[in-house]
Amino acid sequence: MRLMNRIKPKFNFLILFAGIYFFFFLAGNLFSFQNATLKINVEGEKNFSTHLDCKVEGRLYYVPVRKLADVLEARTYYNNLAKKIVLYLGNHKIKVTALNPFIVIDSQVYQMPVATLYDQSGIWVPVQSFVALLGTYYSQEFQFNPKNLQLNILQEMHNIARIQVEEKVNGTLIRIMTLKKFNSSSIATRISQKWLYVDIYGGTVDSTRLRMSPKIGVVRRIIPLQFEESAQLSFQLTRPINKRDVSLQIGDREILVSIRTSKKIPKNILLDLENEKKKWKIDKIIIDPGHGGKDPGAIGPDGLKEKDVVLDIGLRLRKLFQKRMHIKVLMTRDTDRFVELRERSAFANRNGGKLFISIHANSNPRRSVRGFTTYCLGPARSDEDRAIAKEENSVIKYEDSWAGYGDLTNENFILLSIAQNSFNQESQNLAAMIQTAARRHLHTHDRGVRQAGYLVLVGTTMPKVLVETGFISNRKEERLLRSRKYRQKVAEAIYEGVKNFREKEEKIVESDNSMSNLFRKK
Ligand SMILES: [Zn+2]
Repeated sequence: MRLMNRIKPKFNFLILFAGIYFFFFLAGNLFSFQNATLKINVEGEKNFSTHLDCKVEGRLYYVPVRKLADVLEARTYYNNLAKKIVLYLGNHKIKVTALNPFIVIDSQVYQMPVATLYDQSGIWVPVQSFVALLGTYYSQEFQFNPKNLQLNILQEMHNIARIQVEEKVNGTLIRIMTLKKFNSSSIATRISQKWLYVDIYGGTVDSTRLRMSPKIGVVRRIIPLQFEESAQLSFQLTRPINKRDVSLQIGDREILVSIRTSKKIPKNILLDLENEKKKWKIDKIIIDPGHGGKDPGAIGPDGLKEKDVVLDIGLRLRKLFQKRMHIKVLMTRDTDRFVELRERSAFANRNGGKLFISIHANSNPRRSVRGFTTYCLGPARSDEDRAIAKEENSVIKYEDSWAGYGDLTNENFILLSIAQNSFNQESQNLAAMIQTAARRHLHTHDRGVRQAGYLVLVGTTMPKVLVETGFISNRKEERLLRSRKYRQKVAEAIYEGVKNFREKEEKIVESDNSMSNLFRKK
């Protein structure tokens, strides 16, 4: 106690002294500034110009951060006591403190060359360094021109502009505002447990701006993802819903997704049964023989090349589909040529494929390993599966530009692949049926349905599997895979699996439609 008493007066004195110093420091600073007006031009989805007050000192230009936030449509939270303001830009949180050069973005600390200013109208930020920081986090380009005191904000154009969730008497309505009209064949919705996925082929989305947690109706969270050829909007729901309670309506500038949660059906419900049916019909299959050209794939002890085996099986499979199912079949390659991984999934999406079957043969340093496996996309559950996917993904070393795969090769991939599982249930079903048929036809070791992070399956917006037909590294299986008879059997097995899957899926669609209870406004 005695010690405290002795320190306290000194401490108070110190604060007083700092306060006086601070006042002069502040006043001295504010007096030396000139007032000016900064013109701001925003170009993008909305075009407008506005003006902000600006303080100029030498080459430094300061603007009130709260006003700048308004221009950027950022939500703000101001703590008067701590003299801090928080800007919420997309999913980023930007903390600015009065008279302080440090900016905290999410959990990262940045130092600007000068401190912010503070007066009765709030915190002022040095515009050059502040927008330079924002530019690295935000999908807008900032161009500051001190000569004519002008700030240009160029917003990247995205054709998926806004998402609005509304609660209705009988359910939840998701309104996806677009800048163009999408046709129904470019939109697919799927449900997997508590997630609703809306894939929009040709859609572009600002994945930072549209990410939100509306907590309205059954929609808890929205996660947008941009893929090469499509945009995917993932809606996390508060509870599992049924496929038949979701319906889609497409307008000129909007896509409406309704989720029916009440059993009460409004009188004016109309169903577009035929369209709904057509969309689900599996009428086009994409066969993707792995590797090709300069990429031989796995090579057996006797020199058999994976690329040759899988091409032959693919061609045999195509013949079966065409002859017995009278269905459209497209192949990512039907000759010995090299095709980039991303082009394979882009090809499937572009051509409106309804199923994607990638055919491979694998290898293992342990020559005794053998068997038939069907893979779905998902985080690998064993080191062995991880290694196989890594081997298949290593094809990108033959490709000219890796850049397009972005971060897919690191741990982000797992997150992505989970979010991407819009066709997870269907893909699992398809894999199970192929695996069952393989067991019946091939009498080989049944390695079951597994999952791993295959790049070729990422971004393909349809049920998709990767078949590892056998181990080319195993002498016995290399011999089998070399024979025409066995290759034919493999093709028959895959064919039968797809046939069973198709029959079952289309039966589900029929029964769904016959219930005639989709939630739809007309
Ligand atoms: Zn392969």
